[in-house]
Formats: sequence, C-alpha cells, structure tokens
Amino acid sequence: MSTIEISMRNRALIARRERLLGPGNPLFYDNPVHLVRGEGVWLYDADGRRYLDCYNNVPHVGHCHPHVVEAITRQASTLNTHTRYLDETILDYAERLIGTFDDPLSTAVFACTGSEANEIALRMAHVATGASGLIVTNHAYHGNTTAVSQLSTIMPPVEGLGRHVRTIPPPDSYRPLRGLKGEKLASAYAYEVARAIDSLEADGLKLSAILVCPFFANEGFPDVPPDFMTQAIEHVRNAGGLYIADEVQPGFGRTGNHMWGYMAHGVVPDICTMGKPMGNGHPLSGVVARQDLVAEFREQVKYFNTFGGNAVSCAAGMAVLDVIEEEGLMENARVVGDYVKQRLRGLQEKHDLIGDVRGRGLFFGAELVLDRVTKEPAGEETKRIVNAMREKGVLLSRIGPHDSILKMRPPMPFSQDNADQLLSTLDDVLSDAP
Ligand code: PMP
Repeated sequence: MSTIEISMRNRALIARRERLLGPGNPLFYDNPVHLVRGEGVWLYDADGRRYLDCYNNVPHVGHCHPHVVEAITRQASTLNTHTRYLDETILDYAERLIGTFDDPLSTAVFACTGSEANEIALRMAHVATGASGLIVTNHAYHGNTTAVSQLSTIMPPVEGLGRHVRTIPPPDSYRPLRGLKGEKLASAYAYEVARAIDSLEADGLKLSAILVCPFFANEGFPDVPPDFMTQAIEHVRNAGGLYIADEVQPGFGRTGNHMWGYMAHGVVPDICTMGKPMGNGHPLSGVVARQDLVAEFREQVKYFNTFGGNAVSCAAGMAVLDVIEEEGLMENARVVGDYVKQRLRGLQEKHDLIGDVRGRGLFFGAELVLDRVTKEPAGEETKRIVNAMREKGVLLSRIGPHDSILKMRPPMPFSQDNADQLLSTLDDVLSDAP
C-alpha cells in the first residue's frame, strides 16, 4: 500500500489540469512533481526541492543548456521564417547533421515531431516501392499520427492495427524465442521477418518497409542477439523493402559508442528518423535518407512543413551538435554508462529482484522479476520502486511489455557522482520491504 501524500496545492493543480486539458492526460508518479525550473541534470519543484533527472532524453545536453538557449535567443531576435526563402542556417545545419551519418544517407527533410518524421519516412518508402506492407515490432511506439499510430500495439488506434501491418517479436536474449541461443536465436528472430513478408504476400500485399528502433527502446531495450539485424534486413531487402531506423531514442550519441543506434548493428538503413533530443526541447525532428529516395519523395509528394527547418529550430539543432562535440558527451555516455552497468550488476548480486541488467551508454535499466528461474515479471514492484525513487529525489520510469523494466535515460552530462547518487538511492529503495 502506498503511503504517499499529495499536497493540497498539487491536488488543486491536478484538478485544474483535468478541467482544462481533459481527464486522462498522462502524468508521471502517484505523487506528480510540479516542476518550475531545470538546469543540467537537475530539476526543481515549486518548493525548491531538487531532483536528479535520470529519465529525460529531450534535454539531451542538459536542461536549459546556456549555449542552446543563447543560440535560440540570438536567432529568434535576428530572423525566423519558414523554408521557402534562401537561408544558410538550414544548409549549415543539414550539412553538419548529414556528416554524422554513413553513406549513402546524404539528404535531409526537417519537421517538428518524431511522429511527423516517421510519417514522412512511411510516405517516402511508399513512393519508392509502390508497396504498402509494413513490419514493426510488438510493443513498439513510433508516434501519434493516423498512419503511424496504426503501427503500435502498445497504443493502438481505436480501429486497431492496419491490415497492411505485421508485427514481429522484438529480439530478446533474456526471454529468448523457444529458449534458443546465439546464432540460432538471431536466425529465429530474423525468420519472423520472413514470415511476416509471406503473410503480407498471402494477403496480396508487397513489403514497403520495416520500421524499427535499432535500440528497441519502447520494447524494453533487450540485448539483441548479434547478427539479428543483418539477417532481418537481408530478408527485407530481398523482398524489395526498405529499412527505416527510428533514431528518436538512441540517436545523438546516447548509446556511447555510436552517434546513431543503427551503427551498433553494422547495417546502414535507407531512411533514418530522429526527434526528441534534436533541439534539446525545441520542437525539431528530421529524416536523413538516401538522396534518390528524398528526390522522388519531393517530386511526388511536394512536401512542405511550415515550422520544420525554420531558422530558430536549426540554430537550436546546431547548438546541440556543438555541445555534444565540445563537451565530449558521447564519450561521457560510454564511460558513465559502463560504470552504471557494472554497479547495477553489483546490485543484482545483492537483490534477487533484479533479473537482468541491460542497456548501452546513458540508456540503461534492469528488468525486475519475482523469480529468477521463471522470470515472472515484477510489474507492481517496479511501480513501487519508481514512486519510491521519486520520493527520494531521483526521477526515472518503467517500460516493457509488463512494465517491469526500470528505464533510465538521463541528460547526457550525467556524471559518475550523479550515477553514485542514483545507485545508492536504488540500493536503499530495493532494500526496503514493500
Ligand atoms: N518514435 C519513438 C521510438 C518514440 O519513442 C516516440 C515518442 N515517444 C516517437 C517516435 C514520437 O515522437 P513525438 O512524440 O515527438 O511525435
């Protein structure tokens, strides 16, 4: 039983929110946090209490980073307009962004949200292949537009998944398909892609694309069996489909070793989509794709997005890339991420509840189980821990098919000291009997 008290003031705010924004507008934590300020990895509530942010990937280079704030202010006070004029800001940014990708990903389209970026990618694939069949993973989420929401089993549209959509299980080494291991496991998961293609064809549909987050973030970021992606994409390409990588979560160096999540698997996508961290909170998203795909898309779709790629957004995006580079944030993600994982493994030895430690760079977590042999998911216990951490000033969340995976994905300047605070608080909370 929760003994958490919600203050009178927060009760009033919740009621006002329901009245003005409608009920069911999601809020984190049994005792929601009323935030008034952010700085670096810290968030401050209305009573001046400080919280360690171990969750938010949107303020990628840190909340209210002065370099990003200055870039937005400077550009907003100089010029801000849409992209139907010649302007170097968008070109300088596009050039710098494209430079972080592998060949042949060489052309950019800008938008405002991750959902829009995925919508563009789907249309691009449709134009290029003339086909409509799509493959996604179970428990994926790629956005909220009509077309994109048809791809999610966790937040499906009221009418259900589209007839042109097939889902495959996310590749998972902790709960492996049929108990397989290694190469056999990778092939078995990849074979699910081939089966999905056959199933589309049985319905008279051809494959347009597979759309996956290469880190399988919303699926609970399982350890992916090596070689899965190579084999899966081979099936896709043999069927004439494209590989769309949704980099909304792993992108911009979060995983430490690579700027983009797809790079961990050694298979270059045809189209990459990105959003959340791109403008450090300023609404900026994009698609970077093969030039021929973008050219055909522009020719046929005549795409225009009023706010996408405006000068202020591009200045914000450029400033984010500056900070990642100047502050060595990708290296920080690798070093601190390795440290956290090693210490989480230490906690795993002490606390039976921790069934699996997973993640890469500054995207890490642990799957909690009631029994290490049966791996029965500990969803309720995970919820208790997330709420107890919040009461102790550390913000994180949970995810996965059973909401039993602690999800931690802090702003990129997260330090070893920050990690120590997170882990000692977690140790305390895990030690408390429910
Ligand atoms: N793709 C993934 C993998 C996401 O997690 C999300 C948002 N959680 C989106 C796309 C959609 O992004 P947005 O909310 O900016 O539309």
